Amino acid sequence: MYIVTISSELAPAAKVGGLADMVYGLSREMRIRGHSMEVILPKYDCIRYDHVWGLAVCYDNLWVPWWGGAIRCTVYSGHVHGQLCFFIDPHSNDHFFNRGSFYGFHDEAMRYAFFTRAALEFMYKSGKRPDIIHSHDWQTGLTAALLYEIYGPLGMNTSRVIHTIHNFKHQGHAGVEALFATGLNRPEYYFSTERMGDDHNPFAINFTKAAIVYSNFVTTVSRKHAWEAMHTDQGYGMGHTLHRFSSKFGGVLNGLDYDMWNPEWDPHIPHHYSVRDLDDIPGKAENKTVLRQRLLLEQNDRPIVSYVGRLDTQKGVHLIRHALFAAIHNNAQFVLLGTSPEYGLNDYFWHLKHYLNDNPNCHLEIGFNEELSRLIYSGSDMFIVPSLFEPCGLTQMIAMRYGTVPIVRAVGGLGDTVFDWDFSPRPVEERNGFVFESADYHGLESAMFRAFGLYGNSEYWKKIRANCMRVDYSWNHPGTDYLNIYEFIRHR
Ligand code: ADP
Repeated sequence: MYIVTISSELAPAAKVGGLADMVYGLSREMRIRGHSMEVILPKYDCIRYDHVWGLAVCYDNLWVPWWGGAIRCTVYSGHVHGQLCFFIDPHSNDHFFNRGSFYGFHDEAMRYAFFTRAALEFMYKSGKRPDIIHSHDWQTGLTAALLYEIYGPLGMNTSRVIHTIHNFKHQGHAGVEALFATGLNRPEYYFSTERMGDDHNPFAINFTKAAIVYSNFVTTVSRKHAWEAMHTDQGYGMGHTLHRFSSKFGGVLNGLDYDMWNPEWDPHIPHHYSVRDLDDIPGKAENKTVLRQRLLLEQNDRPIVSYVGRLDTQKGVHLIRHALFAAIHNNAQFVLLGTSPEYGLNDYFWHLKHYLNDNPNCHLEIGFNEELSRLIYSGSDMFIVPSLFEPCGLTQMIAMRYGTVPIVRAVGGLGDTVFDWDFSPRPVEERNGFVFESADYHGLESAMFRAFGLYGNSEYWKKIRANCMRVDYSWNHPGTDYLNIYEFIRHR
């Protein structure tokens, strides 16, 4: 099969969060299975070009229709760890992708509407006719609409589109300008709530809704979240549309790239280990010592609880803060690595960092640091993910891979991947963490204190840690699920 992915992120070159990991992991899995896979990305100035090999111009003078005129683009090709990618570089005064960071601008909807139109124009002009086009999140939500409304009539009518929603909170709204700029025009037609008109704002089109209506299949990133999006407020107003199109909507759990995340050869951790090592996994204990040295934590016999991730209200920041104090007041240590695009939240954690500066049992690192994140995953004992909602969540899977026991709230993908040591109905060998239901301090503490209790019993702790490391959350199963969907829509 010939598959082209259009995405705003790809790990590790253009990574903000789990979307990047997912696109990389799924692409790699498809390549391993013998399919032809290409990824189209914006050519941001902030890409980590040290992860891109052989970058070269492959299509100059691509004129992309925009506002009745056209913008000239140069398309570069290059490989990101074996994955063939195309990077679109527009030459216009808008400087859509030359702004020093990936997201966070006032004209976000127009930036990505342009990117999506440019990606399709590139495929059209360069003669690419993939069997499957896989688009991701609101940024590329107009893919199917542009394909079927503009490029289909021009002859690009053999491709089918699957769209994956990674986060319902961000849906992409724009006014009539997005229609005129992309050449869709006809606002009276598209603003209908039958098509892409937002259900809650009569003056906006909704990119995610456009994706659901026009794509041949729509997925979100876990089964549980698919249900939550349809039946609870976690769909952020998209429940009605999902019900309308429920026959082409489903949840597929993201996989984790087990080669990229592997404590047996991860180059960023000083001591390598595996579940086959001696019972007490000495390599992991040595990494714990190194982590403490690096973050100036006291060397003692306390467990380390950690958090790595965006500091976003979605992640339950009040619970993360509470976990920190619950840990240091109950004979544990706490490590946090995170950053937030919201100034208020970032400032809040900076204040907390200064306040706790001299505490030998906790460390807060505000920023994005892939290398440090790996040392934290491997050197900690427990990993906290108290999200208010979590479509899939990769951090709990990474933590488990590194033998760190997750403590999570039972939402979305967290509920699909972590099974409570004490209360899960599953067999003991499948129980791999601590789970709580209610998003409050009591809920969180109930799980944390049970984890601390088990840590005191080294025999059981070894068992739960081994359960974490043995579970298979690689791309093996999700890869098959996506292939089945590709095959299913390909012939429709
Ligand atoms: P989301 O996509 O909602 O941000 P996920 O759990 O799906 O959350 O994925 C987060 C990914 O980003 C993980 O690979 C995690 O290690 C990484 N990550 C998030 N924040 C940081 C950070 N500050 N430093 C390093 N890695 C980070």
